[in-house]
Amino acid sequence: MNKVKNIRLSKSIISNQEINSVKKVLKKGYLGMGDEVKKFEIDLSNYFNRKVSCVSSGTAALHLSLLALGIKKNDEVLVPSITYLATYQAITATGAKPISCDIYENNILLNIEDVESKITKKTKVIIPVHYSGDTVNQRKIYRLSKKYNLRIVEDAAHAFGSEYSNKLIGSFGDIVCFSFDGIKNITTGEGGCVVSNDSKVINFVNKARLLGVNNETKIKLQNKRNNIPKVDVQGWRYHMSNINAAIGIEQLKRFEMLKSKRQKNAKLYDLIFKKSDKIKVYKRNYDQIVPHIYVIKILSKTNISQIRKKLLSKKIESGLHYYPNHKHKIFKNKKINLKNTEKIYSKLLTLPLHPDLSLKQIKYISKELLNILI
Ligand SMILES: *Cc1c(COP(=O)(O)O)cnc(C)c1O
Repeated sequence: MNKVKNIRLSKSIISNQEINSVKKVLKKGYLGMGDEVKKFEIDLSNYFNRKVSCVSSGTAALHLSLLALGIKKNDEVLVPSITYLATYQAITATGAKPISCDIYENNILLNIEDVESKITKKTKVIIPVHYSGDTVNQRKIYRLSKKYNLRIVEDAAHAFGSEYSNKLIGSFGDIVCFSFDGIKNITTGEGGCVVSNDSKVINFVNKARLLGVNNETKIKLQNKRNNIPKVDVQGWRYHMSNINAAIGIEQLKRFEMLKSKRQKNAKLYDLIFKKSDKIKVYKRNYDQIVPHIYVIKILSKTNISQIRKKLLSKKIESGLHYYPNHKHKIFKNKKINLKNTEKIYSKLLTLPLHPDLSLKQIKYISKELLNILI
């Protein structure tokens, strides 16, 4: 029996630090939302130099951000087709309609000219997705939002730690949403946060994450309980637990290491594939961004599912990021034709990228892939 484990596409990186702080929370016996969440929010606030509200997932962060802006049925939200399903489900959860936009062929990031062409009277929000950890052109997108008086909710689920023009994603802009699910740049197990300077938005998220109860955030963060709840808005159970926050606090302390390993691994792939005429490497500045996934375009005629099968037989996992959302039955829109998305999506392949990969493993993965493509 061959017991060699697969090289995973992505994974959670957990040390004794996270294990010990979770143990402490378990022993204390206060597992819900309380002082650990408060501490994590303060740490994140210091990191971004902005107000932060922690929630149960990145999807919840997006959903509540849209609701905070009053997004509802018949509103339109502009969003790239190439993103995780979560971005779309968060939009439709409000009753609004996602309007799929194209990407640039050279970087797979939101095509801002296409966004502008799709703005109508119903458009309320644009969701730029910082795909792979690289950053959407912020100068252009914020100029567009001013011109048409639109709000921006950045889906920064891939981009924790990434910088645009030497400024940290989340430290500027309108509303920025992060995910801390198991495989993201930092994890809390499951979780997410909303970052903004708009106190109306943060106050709304603080309330809506706890079933819409007034002052519930303030009381909970003191490890206290409310008497008779006052409720005047629809809310959800979207808050973060002390267990999750305890993991996040330690991950944030270790982030410089996690970040530099991701960057180093992506740089090595680039270096190896640069010489190949069968693979297109996407030019990304790994000194500025923290890559969440490593995506390449296969130029050779070899079929992607064949490549993935062969890689797996070499114990190498791979991924597809993403099947375009406008092709899913529930989001289908006949009028939409996304030239670049259609052209490249079936040629994109994602290779293992996480901080536990050694440079030797990156070399092995690259060598095996290049062999398959011959
Ligand atoms: C992970 C992810 C989300 C959702 O985050 P969850 O914490 O998994 O709910 C949203 N958008 C993108 C692009 C993601 O990768």
